[in-house]
Amino acid sequence: MNKKFALAIHGGAGTITRANMSEEKEIAYRAVLELSLKEGHKILNEGGSSLDAVERAVIILEDSDLFNAGKGSVFNSDGNHELEASIMCGETLKAGAVGGAASIKNPIAVSRKIMNSEYVYLTGKGADEYAEEHGFEQVPNSYFYSDFRFEQWKAAQGSEKMKLDHSVDKKFGTVGAVAVDQAGHLAAATSTGGLVNKKYGRLGDSSVIGAGVYANDTTCAISCTGYGEFFLRGVVAHDISCLMEYKGLSLEEAAQIVINEKQIKLGGEGGIIGVDGLGNVSLVFNSEGMYRGSINQEGNAEVAIYS
Ligand code: ASP
Repeated sequence: MNKKFALAIHGGAGTITRANMSEEKEIAYRAVLELSLKEGHKILNEGGSSLDAVERAVIILEDSDLFNAGKGSVFNSDGNHELEASIMCGETLKAGAVGGAASIKNPIAVSRKIMNSEYVYLTGKGADEYAEEHGFEQVPNSYFYSDFRFEQWKAAQGSEKMKLDHSVDKKFGTVGAVAVDQAGHLAAATSTGGLVNKKYGRLGDSSVIGAGVYANDTTCAISCTGYGEFFLRGVVAHDISCLMEYKGLSLEEAAQIVINEKQIKLGGEGGIIGVDGLGNVSLVFNSEGMYRGSINQEGNAEVAIYS
């Protein structure tokens, strides 16, 4: 016990510039990010597990309609919301995930439950059914509605293409958290509504273990945000861990290579948050901005939006 603990979070990456952000909106974003950090920090400070901390931090972000996860998730091509989430434990390498869920209020909490079951990944009706059977809060699909996402969907309609979240100015609003606790155990969690106007049951990287999330006590914990198809193909979260494990790179070196070299070559846009077993935090992105924050042992929270 009593190792250096740390927590980092993100609320999505993309073309986030000062020019297209009102002061009021920025204050609102910062307030939710800070709350998420503080709640996660409280758990770690009291000796709680990194899994508890990342779950709590993500629930705060899922419950805010500012982010594309839980409440405030984007619309798919049918005008509905399909949610994805994933969580991984660095100590045991256990993982849990849901995809295409329609009635789970907090997909990250259900992912955690699945992690401790015989399954890893449940999708669609089955995921909703599992959540209901295990007593998780169910909500009508309209619970996820927000005016902003509705307008965004309207603008995307008619085009055959699925669009990136906040497609007008290209932002990804997925949320995530990574932490190392006092026992030195790592955990990572990611939650999203996916891409605007998605169809055919499209799933991105966010709920795929190794792509949008990964945790391993011997290397790092990673949560991603970005254009899912590219992050899937790059197996981004696991690739960062592999560079640390097989090449002996630091977290920052590995993340820089994967995001600023390999993803760029592939055409992928987005970023990651990561933490290693020593409490080093990396917040790396190749887009113009990323809603992000970290908090250290002393409780000093740092929140940033632009590059
Ligand atoms: N990675 C997510 C997806 O492609 C989008 C995001 O990060 O906001 O579904």
